[in-house]
Amino acid sequence: MFNKKVSASILCLLSITTILIHASWSGPLQTIQVGLLISNCKTEQEKLILAVYEQLLKEEGFNYRIITPGELVGQSGENLKKHFEALVVPEYVNSLMPSEIAELINTYVLNNGGKAMLVFDPATKFPDGEQRQAPLLSSLAGVRYYQPVSAGKELIYFGYWCFVSAEKGREWGITPGKLDQDHAVNSYSYGKIRFEHSRAVNIDARVIAFDNGDDGENNPVITEKVYESGGAVVYANMPLGKYKLCSDDLTLRSVLRTFLIDYAKVPRLVNSPGGKGGVVLNLHICSGAYFRALLVMMMQGLFQPDLPLSIHVTAGPDTYKLGDGAGFFAENRFKGRPFLEVLQNYGEMGSHGGWMHNFFAFNVKDLPQQKALQLLEWNSNALVAVTGKKVREYSDPGGNHPTWLKYCLEQFGVNSYYYAGDSGASPSHPRINGEYGGEKMWAFPISPYQKFASFEEMERGQVKPDEVKQWLEDLVNFAADEKTIRMIYTHPSDTRFCLDAIRAFEEKVSAEQQKGRITMAPMSWYADFLNRSAKTIYQVKRQGTGNYSIDLENPAGLKDITVAIYLGEGVNYDVRSDDVQSVLEAGWLYMTITSDCQRKHLDVCRAG
Ligand SMILES: [Zn+2]
Repeated sequence: MFNKKVSASILCLLSITTILIHASWSGPLQTIQVGLLISNCKTEQEKLILAVYEQLLKEEGFNYRIITPGELVGQSGENLKKHFEALVVPEYVNSLMPSEIAELINTYVLNNGGKAMLVFDPATKFPDGEQRQAPLLSSLAGVRYYQPVSAGKELIYFGYWCFVSAEKGREWGITPGKLDQDHAVNSYSYGKIRFEHSRAVNIDARVIAFDNGDDGENNPVITEKVYESGGAVVYANMPLGKYKLCSDDLTLRSVLRTFLIDYAKVPRLVNSPGGKGGVVLNLHICSGAYFRALLVMMMQGLFQPDLPLSIHVTAGPDTYKLGDGAGFFAENRFKGRPFLEVLQNYGEMGSHGGWMHNFFAFNVKDLPQQKALQLLEWNSNALVAVTGKKVREYSDPGGNHPTWLKYCLEQFGVNSYYYAGDSGASPSHPRINGEYGGEKMWAFPISPYQKFASFEEMERGQVKPDEVKQWLEDLVNFAADEKTIRMIYTHPSDTRFCLDAIRAFEEKVSAEQQKGRITMAPMSWYADFLNRSAKTIYQVKRQGTGNYSIDLENPAGLKDITVAIYLGEGVNYDVRSDDVQSVLEAGWLYMTITSDCQRKHLDVCRAG
């Protein structure tokens, strides 16, 4: 009797919520967006995981909506597909997924052609937190992940992330230079990186990346399974968001981008100016040791107005300690000044630490803030005194800078900085051990070649010149093809090795720039664009068969903003709107706004 009453009231509650939910799900269906599924979000870690997935979806220009299991109760796979082109199912926040929701994801993919990205541990636990013998989505993924293990073995372990081939790594958005000879992901100064994996067995998925390290036994790391319905599942056997939280951005970004662009073909705002690739060459002038090198580089024509650099200078007269006279001395007309006067015509001048390169690098952590600030100000003021322009870029000498310093730089008007973390990734807002510097300043991570970052390191590491040249060409092509921004850095040098490397890079960039595939610019120029682009609101709606209606709005102006939608290869189409430049590339239609309007409506119609 009692039980009946309880179930009746639960039923009653359920039907009310169902009506409410249906109401919110019955709106216009044509808007194309990503569903970010979050089953639990209570602990600090769960909130941070949600935050980084949202951050990257925003930075990559995808429209998305967070969905909770409560909203999905009673939904059909068909309706879910009408609302969401793709489902992203992050780690940790979905380990306790209700079985109805797992069933719904099954139907969504199997019967309705939905695309789902499953990360690490979805549906691996019972509601009471107990581990399930088999995760509810493992047959859909085609991988038995979180496989129970025999005694003496850990369920979660650390192993490599090896792609089946170099081409696959590249297709999956791994920046050239980040894969070693075994196609394993590696990092600046570390070599092969170890990632957290669960013990898994491939059933009938296609393995894209795996770990066969000492303990890995061919453990699948990334897999895909494609269904006749057109549905597809990508499974990533790594806690991707967790890596973004500790200064490794590329791991989450590459997998998320590949899934949403190549599998789900979700429309996006391209996060680079004019929808082209972008490259930054950041030159660090740390002291007065580089005058000769700068002179040689000038004489060899390596500074060119159409290849503007980010040139960062430590501007004081000293380097190690007060009075050593080893500095660049930006204001002195017998030392740095004449160089600076020439260099300012070939890019943006930024600050490289505070006044005395090595003194600042070694002492910034222990210096009273007031003192450190004063050194930064001296540095910046000296550059302004010579160039007459504000300093908007920064790179710290040797290592990470304290968070307070970041806020100070922001107040000085700096919008971009060189960053040793997140190696190989595009400009982003880093997170280190839960710390977040906010969204105003853009970090430009180094794109390394294997263990090396600058050309001098490559020379010391005895990398062959041809290998460096090949990497630079691959990197520029990668940025152009992926329509993304990458940064490399080095110091002025007069060795044959470094001069040849800089020349090879510039020649390749110049050629691609002429073809309109890429732009080379200082980091502050990209940061201005990214800050403006972040204010864009847009919507892509399906109209009938194969037609689209697109609305864009940005109070700061839409010029050079590109929206991309997938039409398919060899399709004839019409873009009905003024001031829009459109290109069809590999089935994607890229539409770039060419005038500085605040609102734009575009109609894309299939022709013939
Ligand atoms: Zn330096």
